[in-house]
Amino acid sequence: YDISGLSRPEDQAIKEILEPQGIQSIYTLPLFKNGELIGFVGFDSVKQKHKYAQKEKALLTIFGEMYVNFSERVKISEELKRTAEQAKSASVAKSEFLANMSHEIRTPMNAVLGFSEILKGSLEDEKLLNYVDGIHVAGKNLLSLINDILDLSKIEAGHMTISTEEIRVKDILQEMMDLFNMKAREKGIDLICDQDEKLSAFITIDEVRVKQVLLNLIGNAMKFTSEGMVKLVAEVLVDTGSKIDIAFRVKDTGIGIPEDQQGKIFESFTQQDGQSTRKYGGTGLGLAISKKLATMMGGEITLESQVGEGSEFSLILKNVPYRKADKASDDIGVKVKKEEEYHFAPARILIAEDIYSNIEVLLGHLKDYNFEFFISENGRDALEKAKVYRPDIILMDMQMPIMSGYEVTKHLKENPDTKDMTIVAVTASVMKDDEMRIKKLCNGYLRKPFIKSDLLFELSRHLKHEIVTKHEVTSPKDLINAEYEIAESIKSEVKEVYLDKWESLNELKIGTDIQEFASELLDFAEQKNAEGLRKYAQKLYDYADEFDIDKMEVLFEKFYDLIAGSEEKEEVN
Ligand code: ADP
Repeated sequence: YDISGLSRPEDQAIKEILEPQGIQSIYTLPLFKNGELIGFVGFDSVKQKHKYAQKEKALLTIFGEMYVNFSERVKISEELKRTAEQAKSASVAKSEFLANMSHEIRTPMNAVLGFSEILKGSLEDEKLLNYVDGIHVAGKNLLSLINDILDLSKIEAGHMTISTEEIRVKDILQEMMDLFNMKAREKGIDLICDQDEKLSAFITIDEVRVKQVLLNLIGNAMKFTSEGMVKLVAEVLVDTGSKIDIAFRVKDTGIGIPEDQQGKIFESFTQQDGQSTRKYGGTGLGLAISKKLATMMGGEITLESQVGEGSEFSLILKNVPYRKADKASDDIGVKVKKEEEYHFAPARILIAEDIYSNIEVLLGHLKDYNFEFFISENGRDALEKAKVYRPDIILMDMQMPIMSGYEVTKHLKENPDTKDMTIVAVTASVMKDDEMRIKKLCNGYLRKPFIKSDLLFELSRHLKHEIVTKHEVTSPKDLINAEYEIAESIKSEVKEVYLDKWESLNELKIGTDIQEFASELLDFAEQKNAEGLRKYAQKLYDYADEFDIDKMEVLFEKFYDLIAGSEEKEEVN
């Protein structure tokens, strides 16, 4: 418009704004968004009158549209940002909630696992032992479920950090073999480990996380394989001199995985379609966690599998720094885990713990040693007793009433008289912050629930002791054969009468059939006055009777070994 043409009374207000600015002509467009007026854009001409050409009007229209779209986009992206922030804080809240819950669950679990472990060592009655064993196994399963859920939520909330250190590949493999050897022997499958020559080298990785993934993969391989072998291989894929790409492969001859399920099983809470929960159990979390851990470590997990033939899962880590082993360190040889018995010198232990069941667990585990105990059920009392009795070690619960374990520890560490006292924090917390705080403040750290060997190991770090190493001399198979010794003279007769039946039952291992088999065997043994066989049959009968399915199956499978002639006995490794 030429503004001199604004002559209607209602134009007066506009004129009063434009004229003092010297505006001669103006062209404006209203801006609408979703039917709502959000403003104006326009051209104005100050020096002279200007008649706006069609092109200029078109240009302004484009500007206007751009502005409306842009402002819309800014709004959407702000909304997205807000939503993402909300989601993030919800996720942090979720992980914190889980971590706190896990604290609440871990504390009673400490009692469940601790007492069942103590009871297992002191009960004689076979039936009661089975019950306690059931509690212990169920407790351990529950705990591992809690740990899995917690790990997953920690990864999702970005709380899980990777911390690397140098370790020898050989040692990782050896540790895995040690852990699964017994299980493989029980299941009658071969556990094989193959390794590349180069693997005496030290690689820099997050040892804990790599082991966590391998434990999972090997655990699965063992679970889904009933005959044949599970093989663990480490292989260097690329070697640049200072870095390698390395694959840890876990191969099994188990049930295999159909192609259409191979992606799915890496999702949380997902198992193969139609898989028997009774037979295999599990939660479907292991692979989801493993995959996330692999990604965090800059690697991946690959899978090749064929139904009925077996599977091969590989953890592939890329660009891993490595250093060749020098001769001296190579001669140290492979770390071998042995069963160790600690002989502690007499010592004074202050237990600072407000939950009585936890105190009892500690006392139960430590009762056979030469320790003198002092007990405090709150922080203030612990501080007093620490000063008066001067214990060699304090097992300090960090969450106590009246005065927390943190405060007690701080007081003791600040006092020149008590600053050298050894304090081992005992806590059910799994929060990273707490862990860091504790590690800075205390001399040691035990996470509840702990098993006896964790406790003894921690004590051995601070108290005088000797280690007596028990070497395993007899295989479980030998032990079982010795317990149920069957005279050579009747072996062949037992074989003749029972082997076929045993073989056919061994396919399905149905409890009632096995019980019937045991009952017949019992009659036979009594007739023949064969004490070893009678004991075997009786035990088998009892296991079936008590629905102790796992033990029943294991014992039933031993039948073949028992009646095999001595010439057929396998060599003991
Ligand atoms: P879980 O073993 O607790 O069920 P995982 O996440 O570790 O959970 O595994 C998910 C599923 O993947 C298993 O339930 C099984 O169906 C399948 N699976 C994993 N490893 C193997 C394997 N070695 N052989 C056959 N199936 C496997």
